[in-house]
Amino acid sequence: MATVSLQHCDSYEQHNLHESIVALLAPLGGIGRFVTAGQRVLLKPNMLAGKPPEAAVTTHPALVQTVAGLVKEAGGIVLVGDSPGIGLFEQVARKTGIKAAVEASGSTLVPFDRTRQIAADGIFRRLELAEEYLAADVVINLPKLKTHEMMTLTCGVKNLYGAVVGPAKAALHLTAGRSKELFAGLLLEIAQARPVALTILDGIVAMEGNGPNSGTPRQLGMLLAGDSPVAVDTVAAQLTGIPHRLLPVEQEAQRRGLSGSTMDQIRLAGELPLVPADPPFVLPDGLDLQFGLPGFIKPFLRDSLSPLPCADPQRCVLCGICRDACPPQAITLTKNALKVDSGRCIRCWCCRELCPHHALLLKKGVALKILERYRALRAS
Ligand code: SF4
Ligand code: SF4
Repeated sequence: MATVSLQHCDSYEQHNLHESIVALLAPLGGIGRFVTAGQRVLLKPNMLAGKPPEAAVTTHPALVQTVAGLVKEAGGIVLVGDSPGIGLFEQVARKTGIKAAVEASGSTLVPFDRTRQIAADGIFRRLELAEEYLAADVVINLPKLKTHEMMTLTCGVKNLYGAVVGPAKAALHLTAGRSKELFAGLLLEIAQARPVALTILDGIVAMEGNGPNSGTPRQLGMLLAGDSPVAVDTVAAQLTGIPHRLLPVEQEAQRRGLSGSTMDQIRLAGELPLVPADPPFVLPDGLDLQFGLPGFIKPFLRDSLSPLPCADPQRCVLCGICRDACPPQAITLTKNALKVDSGRCIRCWCCRELCPHHALLLKKGVALKILERYRALRAS
């Protein structure tokens, strides 16, 4: 049975955070259970984009610094790495405050640059992941709790998609991103291909709404930890109050019978009880209504039940970042306009995630608007 520890923690003030993380890890056996002297320990924070810590887009640098300090006390050699979705690693590390945290803790930054193929036994026969991630003796996963336009939530499992380096992310989106179930399966297989020793989830200030890059920070005041990212995500989902039917990764983990994918397979420890957020986390605008429908129906209903990205001419500067990142090349730019090909678009929302100007809005069809109105009326 997996153990997930919960700890209240209201701020990133260093002393407070240190005490909280020590208390968080105590029911799991403390940091010494995961790290032995001389091991090369890779910390994998969420470094999606170069945003300041208060934007809640990335794992807070104070948490990175605190965990790095604990690993060093246990005798580990600390490396901190990721492959950002937006921007260059050095810039992202500097703007998020993670570079300063790494320097303050005497650790080393390692951009995920090189890759290695490993055998897999699932959606793909081989997976190509960051060499720096595969070569570490121990990986400690440091995700941020955020809503996510495509996958509803991003926590421990989704954070490990950062082990896919640079443009390969878009290629995998193209192959597996046409179906949320398929993409959820891929995320779980990446998480299983190179198991992480420990996941510590930053839910002190989480994100709701249009995450993972454009949502609203939400004070939750919680830290979660466990040796299974699947189990940590199961508990994190409960904390957000988001219905299980809207969570593709959690549903797929259950469908595959993975350990820690249901609450009765998890022993909760630490500061209890587990109290779901009230009100529940605000959902992203981009969630479509086709998730959960039989696969053969989706191609027919996709255009009616999924919104389509469209550029706000007031904000779009036609920089081309979204076009270059779009997995199926559904975006074209002319001299003064951006167009999205509805037939090609797989609704992965990479464009909305990556646009630095938050210029991509959602165009909703009549059927989707009627259904949303119907749901709102039923809920009221
Ligand atoms: S929508 Fe955003 S990323 Fe795309 S071209 Fe416009 S400003 Fe650039
Ligand atoms: S247009 Fe945006 S949502 Fe559609 S496939 Fe391209 S990146 Fe994904």
